[in-house]
Amino acid sequence: MPEGDSIFRSARSLHRVLAGHAVTRFETAYAHLDRVNVDTPIVGRIVERCESAGKHLLIVFSGDLILRTHMRMNGSWHLYRHGERWWRGPQAMRVRIDTAEWVAVAFNVPVAEFITPKQLETKGPVAALGPDLLGATFDRDEAVRRIVASGARAIAQTLLDQRVVAGIGNVYKSEVLFLSGVHPDAPSSAVPQATLERMMEIGRGLLTDNVVDGSSPRIQTYRNLRQLNPASEHDESLWVYGRRGKPCRKCGAAIVSKKMGLEARSTYWCPRCQPG
Ligand SMILES: [Zn+2]
Repeated sequence: MPEGDSIFRSARSLHRVLAGHAVTRFETAYAHLDRVNVDTPIVGRIVERCESAGKHLLIVFSGDLILRTHMRMNGSWHLYRHGERWWRGPQAMRVRIDTAEWVAVAFNVPVAEFITPKQLETKGPVAALGPDLLGATFDRDEAVRRIVASGARAIAQTLLDQRVVAGIGNVYKSEVLFLSGVHPDAPSSAVPQATLERMMEIGRGLLTDNVVDGSSPRIQTYRNLRQLNPASEHDESLWVYGRRGKPCRKCGAAIVSKKMGLEARSTYWCPRCQPG
């Protein structure tokens, strides 16, 4: 599952090339999207902006219409020039949006719906999101309040709950807990307030570090996007994630891991730096 920062970067790349431009072609493999397109055509609308909200990617069109997509495990947005060869086959295409200069393609995106700005704000998963670690403003106190309200649930599970705090995925979950010195099984409400406050600062720091903009004026294609995406599960720069059996970078103890939660996501931690 991508972290909030990779969705943020995808939205920013789409925004740079699509915003302010008219849609010249729209295609979708989803009947429910096509129905909306038939009733109220997407072609001719202006892409007003593209943005992320937690791990949702929003494409805002003129005429009060928003396309909300969620990547889950395997979905992705790519940008191509007209005529450029796609990295994936057309059978994986779920949504295609053309402007005069660019083709934006959503591959294997399992969640896609058209909604109005009002619907976005009042119902559905975006309305239910907790404070967004990558938001222009981040309400840390509210995030901490929601973590504490999660009670006995393991802190590692709580950090993945986007209704509590938005943006943390499986990789940063382990990293944030390590940097906070907190055991993944600790009951959410038992973690000291000051530690949770620091944990939120660390999370915001990790995520925003990964979206710092290079000064390159070069337009980002998918290739560049991939190079810009360091949230790899085998990243050399990670503290504990993916490092089972390897020495802790702080104390040398062997990193341990286990599967947690309904979706059995791997959690990694240092038994010495993060005592139970
Ligand atoms: Zn350690």
